[in-house]
Amino acid sequence: MDLGIKGRRAIICASSKGLGRACAMALAGEGVHVTLTARGAEALKVTADEIRKNNPGITVTEIVGDITTPAGREAVLKACPEPDILINNAGGPPPGDFRNWTRDDWIKAIDANMLTPIELIKATVDGMMARKFGRIVNITSAAVKAPIEILGLSNGARAGLTGFIAGLSRKTVINNVTINGLLPGPFLTDRLRNTAKVEAEKQGVSQDAMLAQRAKQNPAGRFGDPEEFGLACAFLCADKAGFITGQNILLDGGAFPGTL
Ligand code: NAP
Repeated sequence: MDLGIKGRRAIICASSKGLGRACAMALAGEGVHVTLTARGAEALKVTADEIRKNNPGITVTEIVGDITTPAGREAVLKACPEPDILINNAGGPPPGDFRNWTRDDWIKAIDANMLTPIELIKATVDGMMARKFGRIVNITSAAVKAPIEILGLSNGARAGLTGFIAGLSRKTVINNVTINGLLPGPFLTDRLRNTAKVEAEKQGVSQDAMLAQRAKQNPAGRFGDPEEFGLACAFLCADKAGFITGQNILLDGGAFPGTL
């Protein structure tokens, strides 16, 4: 299917690895010019070079920086001041017990997973509306629908973003600018591998055994493949996806047991 977005420009935040990388790959495959970001230069270059090699017709720009800081956001917006597509993403906050979290821990989580996407939307949405095309996708978490107790920082910050978007997304769609959330369940990325490693060490089993056990718990009997996530993201950015806005779409292999 041709998504009709060839030649569009996209900012994909936190995209050297994992879900962000998969979104960049899928958009580049549709002929979208991509601006990628990450803090680590090395992995970012590997991803950017791979995208260039597979998609010689597009421009790939890499911006090294922390997207949760004003300087990091400024650098990305300087490289791509008028994006048609914005994929908001950043690392997730650490797990823990809320009794141990300080005000600073909360501010850090809210900065990364709520205020950073809001700042980037603020900087780009009026231009998108004026140009009558915009697709914004916020990568959040399945925890928005089914909170995970030890991920309280993530549950709180992402719920804040989701609530804010629920209002804004109904105001921008009149100008063909949609804003949606993509909620990943367990996808096999470095993040998931690392959390499985920590859990495996606690339980005295191997990382592979822990991964196999967790994959089996999912109704699909496996983890999500980041490529599946990237393709879903690209679909939400399609020219013909302008009637989908304010939605929070769960990609979790059926793990959430509710009817709606
Ligand atoms: P990942 O495999 O660890 O990749 C994270 C990517 O983001 C890397 O490219 C990393 O590069 C970049 N990044 C992290 N913090 C950044 C920052 N402050 N500024 C710029 N780039 C940054 O993680 P993932 O699994 O793709 O997860 C992406 C998001 O989805 C996270 O918020 C995570 O909590 C959420 N999520 C993931 C899953 C899952 O199963 N994978 C499930 C639920 C929610 P650098 O480290 O070099 O900056």
